Amino acid sequence: MGCRWAFLIGLLGAMWLLGSGHGGQQAPETAAQRCFCQVSGYLDDCTCDVETIDKFNNYRLFPRLQKLLESDYFRYYKVNLKRPCPFWNDINQCGRRDCAVKPCQSDEVPDGIKSASYKYSEVANNLIEECEQAERLGAVDESLSEETQKAVLQWTKHDDSSDNFCEADDIQSPDAEYVDLLLNPERYTGYKGPDAWKIWNVIYEENCFKPQTIKRPLNPLASGQGKSEENTFYSWLEGLCVEKRAFYRLISGLHASINVHLSARYLLQETWLEKKWGHNITEFQQRFDGILTEGEGPRRLKNLYFLYLIELRALSKVVPFFERPDFQLFTGDKVHDAENKMLLLEILHEVKSFPLHFDENSFFAGDKKEANKLKEDFRLHFRNISRIMDCVGCFKCRLWGKLQIQGLGTALKILFSEKLIANMPESGPSYEFHLTRQEIVSLFNAFGRISTSVKELENFRNLLQNIH
Ligand code: FAD
Repeated sequence: MGCRWAFLIGLLGAMWLLGSGHGGQQAPETAAQRCFCQVSGYLDDCTCDVETIDKFNNYRLFPRLQKLLESDYFRYYKVNLKRPCPFWNDINQCGRRDCAVKPCQSDEVPDGIKSASYKYSEVANNLIEECEQAERLGAVDESLSEETQKAVLQWTKHDDSSDNFCEADDIQSPDAEYVDLLLNPERYTGYKGPDAWKIWNVIYEENCFKPQTIKRPLNPLASGQGKSEENTFYSWLEGLCVEKRAFYRLISGLHASINVHLSARYLLQETWLEKKWGHNITEFQQRFDGILTEGEGPRRLKNLYFLYLIELRALSKVVPFFERPDFQLFTGDKVHDAENKMLLLEILHEVKSFPLHFDENSFFAGDKKEANKLKEDFRLHFRNISRIMDCVGCFKCRLWGKLQIQGLGTALKILFSEKLIANMPESGPSYEFHLTRQEIVSLFNAFGRISTSVKELENFRNLLQNIH
């Protein structure tokens, strides 16, 4: 869609929001329009428009999702923040107070979660315990039931399976600890400068299928920035197949979401008694204003919506897995577990009702050999990014970076397991498709972050309209 057309739609949208009309006279661009003028109408590569997403997310999904994420099952995430960076000697900024992560004391985490660390139901728990025992023995023990033997083989296969898009932490490691996500919110930490750029740089430069010769514009680590680079980069991106373009847009969407969060929960004031967190409009504008970022900001916000649609689609596809009667949000508190499962299903049915889902069938749809190669490339690049998260030098950023990458990886795994999910038995263990508790917690929390970012865009839009 041409910029002028997008601008006009944006302007109409803004006028509608303000409840005013100006008889066709073109008003000067407001601060809100400079961030949002191109973030309206249809999204590239999808048949969905931004306004529909905003309404759906902000009023129907977001409030219920927030409630679910406050429950015990979703608030405790096990993570190993001590894994060394596999690519270079990392200098972490753990000296920064706002980067600190407070792990849970062992009595803070419900026993049901601890004892079932990556198990999601009592049935699965029992089976997995038998499997672990069998694995320790190093072979399939003849004394195990036939069903368990089958599960051992299937789950071992599953763990090494090519369906995993993320290199998951070894949560059995003594270094892995539970973290209460509600007590360690994603917000401004002060992690910035060359260390942070290096991470983003490695992710974009080495992992987004980009040849060395093409430079991404406005890259603080690259020399010789400018318009010609920008043109080369975007024409290269346009020329890519939809999958490779999607990869770039997912990463850029995640980057945008993180930066929306840090602008929305910025450290505004600090006294020896308390800290005040809130919206920092200048910070937001510096990152997303169309003029200040030479057109990049609105593009980044569109990528955030694209990421939203991909994760939304994955949630709609995985409904049968959660609907199975065996599935529990197991924490050991039967009443709350049942209530939360009801809430989870309500949310998932709401997600399913969204009218304009992204059509992932266009992904990897070409020639089968070519499609498999692309899918494999996609997966390997993605796994690499999950390893880079161990190089993030601020623990709080590392925590949320790991969680969101694992969540996105789980979403991709779901999208590429459609047939397995459709063929799952209605009850009893599912051997072909399986989600661990860690994957479930990261999937919903990652989506919760993007959903919060979309909601925050509405808040910033309102704040910016008041400035002009
Ligand atoms: P950066 O955001 O560092 O971006 C570098 C360059 O990339 C920019 O100059 C621009 O050219 C380009 N760029 C920016 N956004 C996009 C986009 N969406 N798409 C494509 N290109 C883009 N900081 C916090 O305060 N809290 C956090 O929780 C937090 N979590 C982080 C998690 C990770 C994994 C990483 C790598 C960083 C995190 N940071 C966090 C740091 C934060 O993302 C920024 O790096 C930091 O605020 C410095 O911002 P910057 O303006 O220098 O540009």
